Order: sequence, then C-alpha cells, then structure tokens
Amino acid sequence: MSGPFALVDCNNFYASCERLFQPELRDKPVVVLSNNDGCVIARSNEAKALGIEMGVPWHLTRERFERLGVIVRSSNYTLYGDMSARVMRVLAAFSPQFEVYSIDEAFLGLGGFEDRLEHHARHLRSTVYQWTGIPVSVGIAPTKVLAKLANKAAKKDQASGGVRALMTVADQEEALSRFQLQDLWGIAGRLSARLQAVGINRPLDLRDADPRFIRERFGVVTERMVYELRGISCLALDEVVPDRKSIIASRSFGQPVLKLDHMREAVVAYVSRAAEKLRRQRLATAHLVVFIETNPFKPADPQRHVTCPAHLPVATSDTGRLAGAAVLALESIWRDGYRYKKAGVMLLGLVPAARVSGGLFDRPDTEASIARMRAMDMLNRRFGRDTVALAGGGVRRPWKLRRERLSNRYTTCWEELLEVPRPGTDVRV
Ligand SMILES: [Mg+2]
Repeated sequence: MSGPFALVDCNNFYASCERLFQPELRDKPVVVLSNNDGCVIARSNEAKALGIEMGVPWHLTRERFERLGVIVRSSNYTLYGDMSARVMRVLAAFSPQFEVYSIDEAFLGLGGFEDRLEHHARHLRSTVYQWTGIPVSVGIAPTKVLAKLANKAAKKDQASGGVRALMTVADQEEALSRFQLQDLWGIAGRLSARLQAVGINRPLDLRDADPRFIRERFGVVTERMVYELRGISCLALDEVVPDRKSIIASRSFGQPVLKLDHMREAVVAYVSRAAEKLRRQRLATAHLVVFIETNPFKPADPQRHVTCPAHLPVATSDTGRLAGAAVLALESIWRDGYRYKKAGVMLLGLVPAARVSGGLFDRPDTEASIARMRAMDMLNRRFGRDTVALAGGGVRRPWKLRRERLSNRYTTCWEELLEVPRPGTDVRV
C-alpha cells in the first residue's frame, strides 16, 4: 500500500448504528453498553457533551442517566457487524488499495489521487452517508500515523466538514502542536510516560528526536513512529497497538471461489488467524460475523454480499469453537452459482479472557483447550504460520492470494536456497 493515506473512521459507530433504525434517537444522548449491559462502550456526541465517560458501569449510573434523559441500548453486534460490512463495501470502491483496520476504520491508499485528495474524500464521505446512513470522518496524510492524527483533527474541528488533510509540513506541525503524546496512534499510557521521562513531552518533540536514540531506548516500532511523524511512511498495520473493539481477518481471493468446500477452508483459516490475535491480547469473544462477497468491479457477474452473525453461549478464544460457529454461519448463507471474490471474519464484543464466566450449562474454555491453543501459537510463532492448524483450514488452499510471482524463500527453506553454479559452467545473466 502506498501513500498518501486516508484513514476513514465512523463517528460514534455503535451509537450511529442504533440511530439508523430509530430516528427518534437523533440529537439525543445515546450510549451503548457492553455485553450483559456492563458498562458504557459507545456514546453519541450529545452523551459526550453531558460528560459521560467511556467505561462507566451502568448499575452505578443508572439513576443519573435517567435524570439526564440518556437513552441506553444493549450492544447489538449483529447489527454493528452488518453495518460495518456495508460501510467497508462502499469504501472499497474508492481506492483499489484498501485495508480494514477495525470494525469502524479502514485505510485507503490514495496514490494517483494527489491532485484531488480532499475532493475525493468529501465525495467518499457523502456517498457513505447517503448509502448507509453512517457518518464518517476522513484524515489524509503522507503516512498512516499522520492520517490517524488528521482524522482526530477532522473530528475535533467542526469547520473541517469531516475531512482534514495534513499534506504540508506546516499543516502537520499545526496539528501536532494541538495534540498530546498519548493522542498519537500506538503511544499508550506507559510508553508516553517513559518518553516524558527522557524529555519527550509533546508530539513535536518525538518527531524531532534522534531516531537512533529512540530505537535504543524504545525499540524499532517507536523509531518508525519518528519517521512516520516526519512524513516518511514505514509502518505496517499490525505493528501498531491493536484495536480492542474488534478483530478482523479478511482477504480477497487469488481466484474466484465457487465451491462451498473451498469457502469453508478460507473461513476456517481466517478464524484461525483472528483467534490467534485474540489470544495474543488475552481476549475472548462470544460474537462473530462472517461475510462473503462477489466482485463489485465485475458488474456483469451476478452480485451477492451477505453477512451472517454467530453467537456462542460463552466467550471463548479456542480456534475450534470459533471455527465451528463460523462454519455454521457460512453454511446458512451459502448459495451456489456466484463467483465469490472475498470473505472475512469479524470478532466483536471482545472481553478479557480471564474474566469469562460460564453459564449453567456452558463452561468457559477448559485448561486442556487453553494449553492446546498455547502450544499451537508457540509452534506457529517459532516455525512459521500454519505449522499447526485446523485441518478445516485446508492444505492446498486454491483460494489463496495469487502468488505466482513469489520469489524463493532463500534464507529459510532448504529446497529454495540460492544455487551457485559449478565453476566452468555457462552462466547467463
Ligand atoms: Mg470510530
């Protein structure tokens, strides 16, 4: 993916979804609660203006909410997952370079649009709103870290009309000076405290710091942040702190998928990847959404875009349990006769794995399951992805990304080492 980049982020996504089908909620303070109506996980602007904080437990604030006229909704992951897929489908049409980052955010590569970046972004914004009813903000910049910041600036500044471009150094400096270190993508609380301990107090200090010093003290990812702030793009998406609202695994296929067997393999493989990320963050979930779609750029083909939610009785991080639910969901939406181009899996409603409690009949993950997953992750980390995997994820994987032009694995595979011709043989270069 090459820059400039746009980060598109849905405004107050869950609250906006709730409003879509209940217009009486417009202009009202709305909050959405986490699983089992625990605490506040989304707020409309009106709720934010009342000073309602993220994460406050509902049972402690119920009376206050009633007094203030705050409208409360339980989380509806089926609705959010489906609306997310719809928004993403609209966004994907605005650039061939497109990366979903979370349930309500995506990066677009806008190389080639340089002469009309803002115009393109405003068109995108109004199209998403018109077609889905979801308001979005767009931040544009030469790097992803700056695009993320541009997005915050777009949200903060009413006059921006939801779009902010930081393409010049002067604009970048102006925006950087208005934010704190912890507003930067990937700078969480502890890291910002450590940076402040060496005199890096503001985003501009970090941009102007010596990259070698930063690497020695804080590691290579933070060093790359320095370059990103200078407008030099060098950060891959999964190197940054993951988003804790959702995990998404999705890819376009190398060739269209026509058979349920192949689609099942793809979905299991994506669940496996998402579940691995889930475990890495010590999270679990009971909610997932599977989606499959045909290629919108081939209008002559019959088109189909469907999503299907699946809910488990108890949150889990076990690949097998999640894959089982995902496969059932897939089978319920599958229709033959379409050339499917893409599929994906979203995990929503993430909760800390340590705090999962069972129901009367349903138990959380057993010790054996946890140990099995730990062993699997360890082996895959050590020997490479898919060293150990569910058989359901397929072995030959005909649906995989096209990689016909892949070069050899010169340094890690005995069969693919560089061969040096014997002296005297004819070498053609
Ligand atoms: Mg958002």
